[in-house]
Amino acid sequence: MSEEYQGVRFTTSFLGHEPPRHRLLPELRRWCRIFHDRGLAPPYPGGSSGNLSFRAENSFIITGTAIGLKDNLTDDAFVEVVGCDVAAGRVEARGGREPSSETMLHALLYQHFPQIGAVFHGHHEVITREAEALGLPQSPCPLPYGSGELAEAAWRLAGQCDFFVLRDHGFVATGPDMASCGGLCLRWLGKITGPRPL
Ligand SMILES: [Zn+2]
Repeated sequence: MSEEYQGVRFTTSFLGHEPPRHRLLPELRRWCRIFHDRGLAPPYPGGSSGNLSFRAENSFIITGTAIGLKDNLTDDAFVEVVGCDVAAGRVEARGGREPSSETMLHALLYQHFPQIGAVFHGHHEVITREAEALGLPQSPCPLPYGSGELAEAAWRLAGQCDFFVLRDHGFVATGPDMASCGGLCLRWLGKITGPRPL
């Protein structure tokens, strides 16, 4: 991620400040830890990059902004997103912090693809740099992080495949559930680093 982090690029209306509760939260936390351990969510000053979410009932639950290393997260690191208007840059959420800066990207994928149950976005220098050699679809040009344009580029790519690269930025995986989405990330990582015992 070459661009400097400058906060979220949408306005959040909070419907409540309670951390989300959901039976699948432990699984999301586990995938955050795996992303951290495998170098898919590298740290930056004040947080660590990458954002992971799953579809809940009429909402989705996503990692919050600036939550630091993703290896030991408590429930208040997560936010429930109940509405998103990408064109207006508005998000409705419940939780104790802003939802991830890429919330609009996640929202657009859930809104347009009912079969998607999980979206994981990570950063890995080699996957990003070698996208073409790996045969991975990627967005046509670099776009600002957290922007509606980036969300729309992801939406176009997600209609064609379930693992793709945002040019000069990072990768996005989608799947019907977290296990398939995360498995896809680890398989692509394995292609460049070789197999590693789990
Ligand atoms: Zn990113």
